[in-house]
Amino acid sequence: MTPEEFRLSGYAVVDWIARYMEELEDYPVLSPARPGEIRARLPPRAPEAGEPLEAMLRDLDEIVLPGVTHWQSPNFFAYFSANASAPAILGDLVSSGLGVQGMLWATSPAATELETHVLDWLVEMLDLPEEFSSRSSGGGVIQDTASSAALCALLAARERVSDFQINQRGVDRPLVAYASAQAHSSIEKAVKVAGIGRENLTLIDVDERYAMRPQALVEAIRADKEVGRIPFFVAATVGTTSSSAIDPLKAIGEICRGHHLWLHVDAAYAGSAAVCPELRFIHDGVELATSYCFNPHKWLLTNFDCDVFYVADRATLIRTLSVLPEYLKNRATESGAVLDYRDWHVPLGRRFRALKLWFVIRHYGVEGLRRHIRRHVALAKEFATWVEEDARFELAAPVPLSLVCFRHVGGDEVNQRLMDRLNASGEIYLTHTKLDDKLTLRLAICGTYTEHRHVEQAWRLIREAAAMGHPEPTGPGKAEPGQ
Ligand code: PLP
Repeated sequence: MTPEEFRLSGYAVVDWIARYMEELEDYPVLSPARPGEIRARLPPRAPEAGEPLEAMLRDLDEIVLPGVTHWQSPNFFAYFSANASAPAILGDLVSSGLGVQGMLWATSPAATELETHVLDWLVEMLDLPEEFSSRSSGGGVIQDTASSAALCALLAARERVSDFQINQRGVDRPLVAYASAQAHSSIEKAVKVAGIGRENLTLIDVDERYAMRPQALVEAIRADKEVGRIPFFVAATVGTTSSSAIDPLKAIGEICRGHHLWLHVDAAYAGSAAVCPELRFIHDGVELATSYCFNPHKWLLTNFDCDVFYVADRATLIRTLSVLPEYLKNRATESGAVLDYRDWHVPLGRRFRALKLWFVIRHYGVEGLRRHIRRHVALAKEFATWVEEDARFELAAPVPLSLVCFRHVGGDEVNQRLMDRLNASGEIYLTHTKLDDKLTLRLAICGTYTEHRHVEQAWRLIREAAAMGHPEPTGPGKAEPGQ
């Protein structure tokens, strides 16, 4: 494809994406495809001769789109969203266009320096501890996901507690890690991948708000020490997946300091909220964290994948993950004057992901990003009041940000049927969790294009679906949405 052909094809692809954005609301949110249905429509063999772009665009419409669950639909309320935005798409396109592989500073100085700089901007934008800034002892790096960030934190903690012996000799001591019983499964996965062993991850009890009980953590650490186990790592969550609970970082951080434990804070979803000064209570105590991550790809308008991972002491992370073969040696690395991000995560190669974050921050400005977050938080609070006012439903957890956990009072089967009915309608997509062993519906309001009318419609659909199985209660105090 010549540059001129690329130009024309590129316009056609951008047109296709723009049309998709315009039509997003018309598609069934959850793909109705059955297993194998999409593959069955694809040719069994790769084409021998090249095909024109028109053929690919046609197949995108006819084969691919029916098998897409529309994560960018304003009616997508499942999981936590994966925010895409036009500026991020353009930044990503530039990254593809440049095609650089920024494993070392020397392999593309701008890829490293722009990333360092934008991540320092974010420290200020979220009012994170100064130690996380590259100007201080720490620094930030873009990882693919929060799962990778947790793994890197755990590996660095494992090295630190063993005086940097485990990388060389393997795990030869009974290390033990802690997270709340509501922590994301990525912590369990990291513990398994790092060879710590699932048995050596202790899940700490939570309180009535689903946040870790610091006293239970103290007791678990004491009990483990008494039997000769070596506590080394605590993962605290700001905004748990099930209910957006916020672990008390200050109390947990002080316990970690007292026992010399690594405190990793997983704020994958919720961290973005800290662009708003009035929501920074979520980070109360984060200055005690050894590492921290959040996902701009969840709630800060930056296309997947983009997790931002900070450490307060970069030397420990680098020492943990650095391996320097002859073929990567270069003068810039040897000078000690540059950062080589290959030493900050598991893969060697890395894309120029900072571009999309840079485009997003520059396009929206900090004020625009705050508006994005505030809109969702206000919508969630409003939705929560509608739930409270309907006798058939109850809130299942506090709503500190933009996730509403609620359930029909009729029990698990009723909630399961309700959710299946709603998701099969194609008009809305929401998912569930279990809280106190009860099936709970989650309405995560964090989509790029989600507005008041979508949330209002969601509530109408939920009420209608509930009424299909259960008659509407009569009597005073039952408000319509928005009243
Ligand atoms: N941590 C929390 C609190 C999450 O909610 C999630 C995903 O929803 C993750 C970690 C995992 O995210 P990722 O897909 O970036 O690994």
